[in-house]
Amino acid sequence: MSLRLVLLGPPGSGKGTQAVGLAEALGVPAISTGAIFRDNLARETELGKTAGQYMSAGQLVPDEVTNAMVADRLSQPDVAAGFILDGYPRNLEQVAELDAMLAERGLELDLAIELTLDHGLVIERLLRRAEIEGRADDTEPVIRERLAVYRQSTEPISGAYAARSKLASVDGDGSIEDVAARLRKVCQPAG
Ligand code: ADP
Repeated sequence: MSLRLVLLGPPGSGKGTQAVGLAEALGVPAISTGAIFRDNLARETELGKTAGQYMSAGQLVPDEVTNAMVADRLSQPDVAAGFILDGYPRNLEQVAELDAMLAERGLELDLAIELTLDHGLVIERLLRRAEIEGRADDTEPVIRERLAVYRQSTEPISGAYAARSKLASVDGDGSIEDVAARLRKVCQPAG
């Protein structure tokens, strides 16, 4: 059976890592909007150039750009098995847009899973990652901006999914394997 999931959580919560692991466990693709933008940026595509301006400032790429990219990705054949979205939706407008994209295909989201992590830990993790990976948007002022955008635009999404009984919360503090096991457990009843 197919499983359509959204993974929510602050930058640095481990969403990206966990989305890949969970997708493998469930046999569905992990779709990361941030990774698609970074790939386009590296290949210097038009999309990458547009997105890069916002990413380097820690701001959201405009909805029309992001929504079109996700719609395109969700029309690929591998999505028939389901998907895990990582980094999308990121504001309430994108929640509505995702609903519309799925409704158009006669589909619904199964579950949004929120990875929770203390904001102090988030900054610590991101600064450590900055040293290791050298991601351009992992400098302290940009991290602070990304967290501010997260609080303002992305946090309200959890409430929207909770209101329709589609939200599960998972503690993101722990080893990668511990958190992965918690996530797999939450997915069982939905699968
Ligand atoms: P993180 O969640 O750790 O900040 P991501 O890789 O998810 O990192 O996203 C990196 C950047 O890509 C964001 O700061 C934003 O500029 C852009 N981005 C990713 N997803 C979206 C989205 N759904 N809407 C708008 N911008 C996005």
